[in-house]
Amino acid sequence: MPNYKIATIPGDGIGPEIITETVKVLEKIAQNFGHTFTFTEVLAGGIAIDKTGVPLPDETVEVCKQSDAVLLGAVGGWKWDVLPGHMRPERALLGLRGALGLYANLRPAVLHDTLKGACPLRADIVAKGIDIMIVRELTGGMYFGDRGRKETDLGLAAWDTEMYATEEVRRIAVTAFELARKRKKHLTNVDKANVLESSRLWREVILEVAKDYPDVQLDHLYIDNAAMQIIREPSAYDVMVTTNMFGDILSDEASQITGSIGMLPSASLNKDNFGMYEPIHGSAPDIAGTDKANPIATILSAAMMLNYSFGLDKEAKAIENAVTKVLESGVRTGDIMSDGMRLVGTREMGRLVLEAL
Ligand code: NAD
Repeated sequence: MPNYKIATIPGDGIGPEIITETVKVLEKIAQNFGHTFTFTEVLAGGIAIDKTGVPLPDETVEVCKQSDAVLLGAVGGWKWDVLPGHMRPERALLGLRGALGLYANLRPAVLHDTLKGACPLRADIVAKGIDIMIVRELTGGMYFGDRGRKETDLGLAAWDTEMYATEEVRRIAVTAFELARKRKKHLTNVDKANVLESSRLWREVILEVAKDYPDVQLDHLYIDNAAMQIIREPSAYDVMVTTNMFGDILSDEASQITGSIGMLPSASLNKDNFGMYEPIHGSAPDIAGTDKANPIATILSAAMMLNYSFGLDKEAKAIENAVTKVLESGVRTGDIMSDGMRLVGTREMGRLVLEAL
């Protein structure tokens, strides 16, 4: 049986708590299915600043590169908010994405049957279900483009540049079409081609790549319309592909309509399906260290790791089924709590998922 090397980055806030529970789940999977997972814990974010002076030590990047996948908790916190931009914990995320070439961010927004009550949308919309996979470009666009400041007649000005090259768009388009092919064969491209030149090139490339996927139905939405449509009729969407910044916003919006940010996993992949897996939420400093964090988003991120990086579909499914079983038994962390359910903490939720495995 192969041995999989996993770099773990607990990070800050609730990060260490949710990673602890997730590592236990992976160890149980290894035991049940006869695999070996070797974990190497490394520093990133605020804790790395405190211990080494930088948010992303070289050693962390090196260990990640030598691993088969990376599992990340979250980084950031109030303590480091006063630091200049390039020294903030969040720089570690951009650094890791860049250094590991993680250009494809997959964020499933799924409304679990048992959590329909937590969805803020109207009952008739909820009844149709939500299962959207947002594919966000992660290493280009405005978050990586040229930026600066200069004095102008109107005072100090600042700029960030949105730029996409053909190959950057092509590779994310291929990722999205391939995913759509494995799902409901429906891809929605989201851009702002009515205004932005970068979006016009983006759309040209999407249309070009579409020729290789005649079996996938392709449509297009402008980002402002997309933001409305996923609230109005989320069941109409399957896979959505978009730029770094539009995807950042759209995927957070999609997460909200599923009820809890504590439930949603994500994967960031490079061209070889090497990936970094993390919950979509942040370090939740307001509840850190209080055993209140929902570990499910991270546990489901580990399931994505098994699926996308290791090709262990059965093992991934086992984790997803265990989570569903626990939710069906009426157990909830605070973020997804509702009347008549039993409130548990991070550790108890982790223990129950283990038990269900
Ligand atoms: P957040 O996601 O950390 O928290 C938003 C709200 O959701 C909080 O009330 C929090 O308690 C709650 N929440 C989040 N995850 C939860 C969980 N698993 N269980 C229960 N409740 C949960 O977002 P924020 O408050 O905007 O950011 C806090 C810090 O995290 C900031 O420093 C931010 O920069 C950082 N951040 C990091 C990442 C990352 O590491 N990928 C992502 C987003 C934000």
